[in-house]
Amino acid sequence: APDPAPSQPMLEVSALCRRFAGVAAVEDVGFDVAQGEVTCLLGPSGCGKSTTLRMIAGIERPDSGAVRIGGRAMSDAGGFLPPERRPVGLVFQDFALFPHLDVAANVGFGLQGPARQNRDRIGELLERVGLSGHAAKYPHELSGGEQQRVALIRALAPRPCVMLMDEPFSSLDHRLRDGVRDAALDLLRETETTVLMVTHDPEEAMLMGHRIAVMRKGRLIQEGRPDELYNRPADRGVAAFFSDLNIVSGRVSGGRVQTGLGAFPAPGLAEGSRAEVAIRPQHLVPTDTETGGTPARVERARYLGRESLIEMRLEPGGAAMKSRVPGLILPAPGSLIHVAAQPGSAMVFACDGE
Ligand code: ATP
Repeated sequence: APDPAPSQPMLEVSALCRRFAGVAAVEDVGFDVAQGEVTCLLGPSGCGKSTTLRMIAGIERPDSGAVRIGGRAMSDAGGFLPPERRPVGLVFQDFALFPHLDVAANVGFGLQGPARQNRDRIGELLERVGLSGHAAKYPHELSGGEQQRVALIRALAPRPCVMLMDEPFSSLDHRLRDGVRDAALDLLRETETTVLMVTHDPEEAMLMGHRIAVMRKGRLIQEGRPDELYNRPADRGVAAFFSDLNIVSGRVSGGRVQTGLGAFPAPGLAEGSRAEVAIRPQHLVPTDTETGGTPARVERARYLGRESLIEMRLEPGGAAMKSRVPGLILPAPGSLIHVAAQPGSAMVFACDGE
């Protein structure tokens, strides 16, 4: 599908840097979030996601770089806008509700209009998330999922330009999480809210994000649609974030990299250079012997319900491979099968760098 007409992004982050005790926590991070879009900031623990979010919120001061929200600079030579003066709504992992205020007062906390208008806004939001009957309760009288919804509508109530959410679902029981996540997503989409959400969970990022920005060691590695990150990862590390990988390597010759699983197109890679090929387990499939494929000795095969997981070693060479195939397919351990990568599924990377 073509991209929507370019308009001014709601959130613009450029060249943000932050060091702690001389060590870079965030280095040269920049990206935009368009109006009404959800961008997930994804990466392993300690990669700088929260620090990035906190700098956008104004909780943490960047050493350098700039943040613009709704076209307005959040800092300049003259000063740095504190969090309460930024048009942002904040939701944290622990929800951070005010324990001494009831639900209605929590939701209304950031509202500045006339009392009657505020009451209407609070009532409308409580109703929207199914909590009308809980207005007079205190946070400790609510379930985790209910607290999460209160935190969400409290942040939404003043109609912020951008919602900043740091692991907003990770303290919820996993049985509850799917429902709460879907409800939150519906509300954010209906209100066309612009969102930046931090998560370490790739599945959550795929589920929630129109776009995903992957960070590693303080740097932004890749930013794009979920399908772009999954199918065209910038490097092996990004690819490995979303699933196990089968890795084979070889040299580039005649524009193709020659590996133990056959030859794969290696566009843009220098002749004679080493390249790695990554294939996701669901894309490495058993073949009929007649149609070719690479022989592999089965080590273990298990049925997982929706699919079977076959672990094997290529012959010759002995490289360990995994194949996930739909249904019940359990070749005997020790038997020889043939496997091949599905056409177009191989991800080829230059060997330097990663
Ligand atoms: P997590 O998911 O574990 O919160 P993260 O990706 O959000 O990880 P950050 O919390 O941004 O990572 O931390 C990035 C790095 O900066 C880490 O090495 C962390 O220890 C360090 N760091 C963060 N805040 C501070 C601070 N106030 N003082 C010193 N070091 C800090």
